[in-house]
Amino acid sequence: MTEETIFSKIIRKEIPADIVYQDDLVTAFRDINPRAPSHILIIPNKHIPTANDVTTEDELALGRLFTVAKKLAKEEGIDENGYRLIVNCNAHGGQEVYHIHMHLLGGQPLGPMLLS
Ligand code: 5GP
Repeated sequence: MTEETIFSKIIRKEIPADIVYQDDLVTAFRDINPRAPSHILIIPNKHIPTANDVTTEDELALGRLFTVAKKLAKEEGIDENGYRLIVNCNAHGGQEVYHIHMHLLGGQPLGPMLLS
């Protein structure tokens, strides 16, 4: 297991973040560099570095990412128009922080899924 990241400190509230949801399994907070009017990161409280590291033991926490995304999308008022959920993995996926996270993005048309 690689070393924990700044996200573990956010979960433990050792450094500031705009936390919008937290329970025993997951934490959600606003991205420090938002790429859309709503840009929230939803992460498991357990340090799982990448999508390559998930196990069946993580299924409850990783499923929780979706139910929390749905709840937050409604709270943000973006559920009807729609939004995008993204999980980047490793270099080609553009992952910068090695604590698996789901991006919740919305509030405007988000364009094509990938730059062509
Ligand atoms: P990735 O590229 O790994 O999928 O996304 C990492 C995201 O974490 C980026 O969108 C970046 O802006 C965000 N981020 C990095 N460091 C911090 C931080 O200290 N606080 C918050 N709130 N977001 C961060």
